[in-house]
Amino acid sequence: MEECIFCKIVAGELPTELIYEDDVVAAFADISPMAPVHALIIPKKHLAGVDELSEEDAGVVGHMIMAAQRLARQLGVSASGYRLVINTGADATQTVPHLHVHLLGGRPLEPKLG
Ligand code: AMP
Ligand code: ZN
Repeated sequence: MEECIFCKIVAGELPTELIYEDDVVAAFADISPMAPVHALIIPKKHLAGVDELSEEDAGVVGHMIMAAQRLARQLGVSASGYRLVINTGADATQTVPHLHVHLLGGRPLEPKLG
């Protein structure tokens, strides 16, 4: 996936500070933050999005959520609360076709999701 910006971040080809990394996932601050804490957790392996997932990807997805929990603690929002968001496809405004979980927090978030 040579043209995928998140694959480029994983490959170290875009200067991006990783705030969490293990064998399966990487995380970094969103370039256009919507909240005081706004991080993205991505699989190192290119997966386009939720709708393209296979059963065999379930472990990676679970790993992403556990990494989000760890990152929320690291960023100091576990006690105050946070929101995990996965946009999928056009109506949800997914703009980067590499699976990512948004971790949002650091202020009271809007109660409405849609
Ligand atoms: P989505 O709309 O769910 O596809 O979210 C994509 C997110 O990626 C947006 O919030 C962008 O601000 C963010 N983004 C795009 N390029 C970069 C980048 N190079 N580094 C960090 N975040 C990025
Ligand atoms: Zn990718």
